[in-house]
Amino acid sequence: MTSSEPPVILWFRRDLRMDDHAALLQAIQTGRPIVCVYIREPLKGNLAIGGAQEWWLHHSLEALNKSLNERGNRLTLASGQASDVLLRIAKETSASCIFFNRHYERDALDLDVASSLRAEGLDVKRFKGQILHNPETMKTGSGGAYRVYTPFWRALERDGDPREPVGAPEAIPAPPHFPKSEELPDWHLLPDRPNWAEEFAELWQPGEAGAMKRLESFLEKPVLTYKKDRDFPGLGNATSLLSPHLAFGEISPARIWHATRGLEATEHVIHFRKELVWREFSYHLLVAFPKLGEKNWNDRFDAFPWTFDEIAFEAWTKGKTGYPIVDAGMRQLWRHGYMHNRVRMITGSFLIKDLMIDWRKGEEWFHDTLLDADPASNAANWQWVAGSGADAAPFFRVFNPILQGEKFDPDGDYVRRFVPEIANLPTKYIHKPFEAPREVLARAGVTLGKTYPNPIVNHAQARDRALSAYAEVTGRS
Ligand code: FAD
Repeated sequence: MTSSEPPVILWFRRDLRMDDHAALLQAIQTGRPIVCVYIREPLKGNLAIGGAQEWWLHHSLEALNKSLNERGNRLTLASGQASDVLLRIAKETSASCIFFNRHYERDALDLDVASSLRAEGLDVKRFKGQILHNPETMKTGSGGAYRVYTPFWRALERDGDPREPVGAPEAIPAPPHFPKSEELPDWHLLPDRPNWAEEFAELWQPGEAGAMKRLESFLEKPVLTYKKDRDFPGLGNATSLLSPHLAFGEISPARIWHATRGLEATEHVIHFRKELVWREFSYHLLVAFPKLGEKNWNDRFDAFPWTFDEIAFEAWTKGKTGYPIVDAGMRQLWRHGYMHNRVRMITGSFLIKDLMIDWRKGEEWFHDTLLDADPASNAANWQWVAGSGADAAPFFRVFNPILQGEKFDPDGDYVRRFVPEIANLPTKYIHKPFEAPREVLARAGVTLGKTYPNPIVNHAQARDRALSAYAEVTGRS
């Protein structure tokens, strides 16, 4: 079905879905043909797609195009500055308006794009983005942004459920002529030599269908014990694993929220909603402080004497610190493009406090290697671990990697899975091979310093060093 009216350009970004898509629904309501576009923009920092995410993006764009084809439309791919590309496509298709959803991390950029397109006579409309509540209207009693999570959660509870999600349209009217499109394989988003994403395809199904499957399987079982199991990385699928789908907007948070509405409101279900609201909180923080990924929320940390030891940083990135739980996490990240939340906190604390490396280096590494890298959640969580963020863990809360390992990976299953060279150690030593007697190491086939590293720092000494540095900055002892 085509219409003779000028088409609407629908600009997809990190909202690669059909379901509950505000801009798409509004575009359909105009009754005009729709030109669907994805632009590969030359973005910088955490606005750019990270290395691991390029793999996801490739598959997600394929899935999106398939969904559009099923609805009688198709995706146009183009590279360049958004305003140039959109203007060119508007001329080519005689489109008079451009619709897109809001992405809070790039508000400033989008305002520029919109104003340059408006100057060319185009009608530009922006719709609500990938969060539950509007940060401009959800304010504290004194009219400011929430800076503390618990009152934020309470306000959200008080306000009741977020809006109902709206289902996917059955058809999307096509323009008489599609604009010229680039070819996805020419974007070279998939790694080739070496193919470091080998295991990704076994674990993940990028795209909206994969997101819905994840949600359904999570709601079938893991959600029933979520609160109890979510902290144990060795359990595997105890959490929803929805984060990369959320990061690419393949599912809306409102869809997830309402899906949990059909369940009995147990402590587990409520805890899951609370985690979803941590994501929401991160976005509200980002709107209040757009430099969340670059600057300390608490500027007292600007004077912190970070060090940078390149060898230690590399050992951390490669999972060769000699602390098994840290190494397991960093290797999970590399192999799966994902790391369990508890282990993100442990590895983050290790980088910041044991190695005294600036949290921004960790944030950058995660941005490049996580499939769920998200400008708000990544920045807010790194600042949370560092102690520099809003409502952050106090700096003096230094995670002990041995005790954390023993508590949250009590049988060592997680470590054995990702650090196979020490898998034969008895559980007693799996989180501290450096304390194992020689004969125990020999029986397990471990030679410290050869088959597995000695610890790159002494945790107790490193902790003291970090706390003294902190005391200097804050004047506390
Ligand atoms: P579930 O436990 O099933 O939670 C459901 C959803 O709630 C998640 O998909 C996520 O959207 C949200 N959520 C859960 N925990 C948090 C949290 N602490 N902060 C914000 N949202 C949360 N999450 C990202 O999505 N992207 C990131 O780049 C990111 N970087 C992080 C960096 C560090 C240092 C730390 C400590 C945490 C980071 N997180 C990040 C938060 C968290 O680790 C992941 O959201 C979670 O592990 C994803 O797994 P899941 O989908 O199974 O989560």
